[in-house]
Amino acid sequence: MAATEHTDLLVIGSGAGGLSAAVTAAHLGLKVLVVEKEPQYGGTTAWSGGWMWIPRNPLAVGAGIVEDIATPTAYLQQELGAQFDAARVQAFLEAGPRMVEFFRSQTALQFIDGNGVPDFHGRNPHAALGGRSMCAAPFDGRRLGAHIAQLKPPLSETTLWGMGIASGVELRHFFNALRKPASLWFVTQKVLRHFGDLLRYRRGMRLVNGNALVAGLAASAFAQGVDIRTSSPAQRLLTEHGQVVGAVVGGLEIRARCGVVLACGGFPHDVARKKALLPHAPTGQEHWSAASRGNTGDGLRLGEAVGGQVALDAVQAAALAPVSLVPRADGSHAHFPHLVERAKPGLIAVTAAGQRFTNEADSYYDFVSSLLAATPAGASAQAWLVCDHTFIRHYGLGAVKPAPIPMGAMLRNGYLRRGHTLAELALACGIDAAALQATVARYNQQALTGVDADFGKGETPYNQVQGDAASGYPNPCMAPLERGPFYAVKVVPGSLGTFAGLRTNASAQVLDAQHQPIPGLYAGGNDMHSVMGGTYPSGGITLGPAMTFGFIAAHHAAGKDL
Ligand SMILES: Cc1cc2nc3c(=O)[nH]c(=O)nc-3n(C[C@H](O)[C@H](O)[C@H](O)COP(=O)(O)OP(=O)(O)OC[C@H]3O[C@@H](n4cnc5c(N)ncnc54)[C@H](O)[C@@H]3O)c2cc1C
Repeated sequence: MAATEHTDLLVIGSGAGGLSAAVTAAHLGLKVLVVEKEPQYGGTTAWSGGWMWIPRNPLAVGAGIVEDIATPTAYLQQELGAQFDAARVQAFLEAGPRMVEFFRSQTALQFIDGNGVPDFHGRNPHAALGGRSMCAAPFDGRRLGAHIAQLKPPLSETTLWGMGIASGVELRHFFNALRKPASLWFVTQKVLRHFGDLLRYRRGMRLVNGNALVAGLAASAFAQGVDIRTSSPAQRLLTEHGQVVGAVVGGLEIRARCGVVLACGGFPHDVARKKALLPHAPTGQEHWSAASRGNTGDGLRLGEAVGGQVALDAVQAAALAPVSLVPRADGSHAHFPHLVERAKPGLIAVTAAGQRFTNEADSYYDFVSSLLAATPAGASAQAWLVCDHTFIRHYGLGAVKPAPIPMGAMLRNGYLRRGHTLAELALACGIDAAALQATVARYNQQALTGVDADFGKGETPYNQVQGDAASGYPNPCMAPLERGPFYAVKVVPGSLGTFAGLRTNASAQVLDAQHQPIPGLYAGGNDMHSVMGGTYPSGGITLGPAMTFGFIAAHHAAGKDL
């Protein structure tokens, strides 16, 4: 007989989806246990940018950005089309601001605003110029005490010597470190403090982005007596009379009086599910997700085993993003998501035919959607990000950092390709040389006028914010590629996580084949079928709903009104 343990709410997975539910439930008086399969807690959330899309959030309202719920609803209606699920969208939009108010007034988690961050699709008349997103505020890791040891560190390739860099002002200082004395001073202080932390604590303690989000959530959970148990994979759900009453975790039976929340982060590394749901991955291998490697679809399988249904009709089953494969010393590859540099002036993306295929400054999801559309049937989707010497030393390229960080190692391991001329670069990459030269010549002409007649780069507010207005060229996303040597990095289809998940109702309860809730079972984060239906209307549309539906699920499980 397996040993049995009793709790009120069992949460499986320790990313934003799970921890939001755990912290809320503990505040509502429930005894909560979080089980995490990996030796560290935080999942993909700990690697993320930490941005959450929450229209009408209190930080925006406090800054005077006030909009009726009808406006973001209309934005989503147009973006989601047939995928628009009125009940779930309304639940998300109504509870989101309350969730933020709860966390910022009653927990250790604090936020910074995104009042200047526009929605992805500025041509939608209901898109906002800002005020619908927010990010976790930087967090002092020392506040976690001994629990810092189990916090998953950021993905090393996205850091500078292990130091996370917050987006926005902070990132701009890093790009300008060799150009502006104020930026150099800012960066020097940050780096010195980081090295001090490394000497003293063997890791950075100034946590930013998704690492700060997890740290804020975990600190709040520990303060409420929540047990976050690492190296504890859930293997099977326990049911009685059609109700989920707990789970088997590492041979231990955990019985949960108020239910179980599945929050295992979707299926980004589940080969069989990728094969079934991603048409560009016919063997299940041709999708290189940047999400945490422990996210192998366990939550979806656990849910299905008790009658849950995985949605098969998502517009895209994954949160698509271009990824490059960075060789590591042990022979493995990091999956580096290209989220920042594509919109900067002086970069183009081409296929092996040497031709552009999209507006490089559009969102990562739109970039990969265009790449897939431009890839002939049966061919493997891949593209090259191409830039010149001025660009790479200013902005970096993927895992290659800007000056003064040397790039020799990335040239030697083959990640970065270089040519003293465009023809030489084309040869190094297997790109059609004549076509690449013609493409760059045309692009350089357009950069001088600022008009991308082919793909409209730089036209939307989102493009412009992602570009660099200080470049001196008329279009913040365009500059000529003219100063050799020239460089390229190959990108392939990947994702930030997955969208297709267990069908739920507006209370985050998992639904069976008859669309009836399975008593005692909730899904959160990417185990829940995305409320966006596989579309990607704005940055933060996975973490915003993950935080919000975790908050909703906890209230439902505790039998409390929102
Ligand atoms: C570089 C990067 C940047 C991103 N930036 C953003 C952003 O700014 N905004 C945004 O909205 N999204 C962003 N994303 C996507 C976002 O991080 C994910 O969609 C989100 O973190 C998923 O949260 P989750 O709680 O579902 O899963 P996770 O955070 O991945 O947590 C799931 C956890 O469950 C655990 N688990 C799995 N199986 C089991 C099991 N059987 N038993 C116990 N535990 C299990 C996993 O080990 C993992 O720790 C980004 C992603 C990446 C890679």
